[in-house]
Amino acid sequence: MKLYNTLTKKKEEFVPLEPGKVKMYVCGPTVYNFIHIGNARPMIVFDTARRYMEHKGYEVNYVSNFTDVDDKIIAKANEEGVSSKEISERYIAECKKDMEGMNVKPATTHPKATEEIGGMIDMISTLVEKGYAYNVNGTVYFRTRKFSEYGKLSHKNLDDLRSGGRSLLVTGEDQKEDPLDFVLWKPKKEGEPSWPSPWSDGRPGWHIECSVMSKKYLGEEIDIHAGGEDLIFPHHENEIAQSECCNGVPFARYWLHNAFLNIDNRKMSKSLGNFFTVREIGEKYDLQVLRFFMLSAHYRSPLNFSAELMEASRNSLERIQNAVGNLNHLLENAAVEELTGEEKELTAQLSSYEEKFDAAMDDDLNTADALAAIFELVRFANSHAEEGSSKAFLRALKEKIVSLADVLGVIVEKKEEMLDADIEALIEERQAARKAKNFARADEIRNELLSKGIVLEDTREGVKWKRA
Ligand SMILES: [Zn+2]
Repeated sequence: MKLYNTLTKKKEEFVPLEPGKVKMYVCGPTVYNFIHIGNARPMIVFDTARRYMEHKGYEVNYVSNFTDVDDKIIAKANEEGVSSKEISERYIAECKKDMEGMNVKPATTHPKATEEIGGMIDMISTLVEKGYAYNVNGTVYFRTRKFSEYGKLSHKNLDDLRSGGRSLLVTGEDQKEDPLDFVLWKPKKEGEPSWPSPWSDGRPGWHIECSVMSKKYLGEEIDIHAGGEDLIFPHHENEIAQSECCNGVPFARYWLHNAFLNIDNRKMSKSLGNFFTVREIGEKYDLQVLRFFMLSAHYRSPLNFSAELMEASRNSLERIQNAVGNLNHLLENAAVEELTGEEKELTAQLSSYEEKFDAAMDDDLNTADALAAIFELVRFANSHAEEGSSKAFLRALKEKIVSLADVLGVIVEKKEEMLDADIEALIEERQAARKAKNFARADEIRNELLSKGIVLEDTREGVKWKRA
């Protein structure tokens, strides 16, 4: 598998530190509101990267943080007259709901910054001891000049950055030794959450959080660090500086960044009125459509969000869903069990679609081409599945489509497409449970069916059901 590494600006063969295992860190959102669709892109594309690596047999340790201490959280808390913790807990819960809707798997660990303050103080202390950081009146800065490799990720000219940074000195940070020095720890202001430290009662800077959480949950050296391209500078550059100066080993081997998401060809912003939360999109579309849309372009290409493109994604997704629905329908009515001779030959061709799919994903996670391979498979299924097909053949077609879509995290089996036979079987089980006075189980089955859009009606002639 090849991955484009921002650090080397090249597509490189992926070789994990430990055979068969992947240690991956993805910068998570700051939780002060519902996540927006710009946040959704890295969540979806890197969840897809993880799923694909798992499909290839890797054991992936996937860590993604929640930044739950930040100016925006404090501002929102003050606005509502509640604690910062209340705000961050609320929006972490909401974020998890959106992730579930988008079929983004929970990370192996979702650390929260406020629960890792001790580790941050330790890392900052080490940096101060080694001369990479200095304290001025309770604020601790990283001494960028001392890290000769500073700028290696963003490939920026430091002198240009320095001269550009000088104009920023009016912001009151004139106590820094160098305009590129950044905050590791800052003293609290009135009404802000704070923690005691050797330098001041205060809170950590944003960059140190990820260095510490990555180290704690994945170790000093990791395979992949990922996030949106807007994080390359300064966030990821600063993470590298902190981690490598503290630990004395390379931080991450592969740096993956997704490109921007534009809205109607313009940058998403609240002031332009083209700012959408995932929740808002979820009111108009199944979030599977959003996931499909995000994967319809390569993750390093800018992606333009528009109503037309979402409609196109919905139609494309439906084509796959309809093919699976059709296979389910044929399966229900199929009379023959075993593969016929001709079907054996056709089934042998199925692996070629998976090979195309894998080749696309191996090429720096080309999800657009991987989807194209699924569509070829769908065309193959549509042209060869028919009334007289055997169950084994229909099952093989369906399993291949569903399993490849699942590698992309796209759910292609509609919930209401529950087989009639399965529904009848559950109804029978419910009747038996009622007879045995196991009403808890009977209710459970009714609810299970309800969640799949099946409504039961107890009549004199027995139980009737319909699709809601
Ligand atoms: Zn980060």
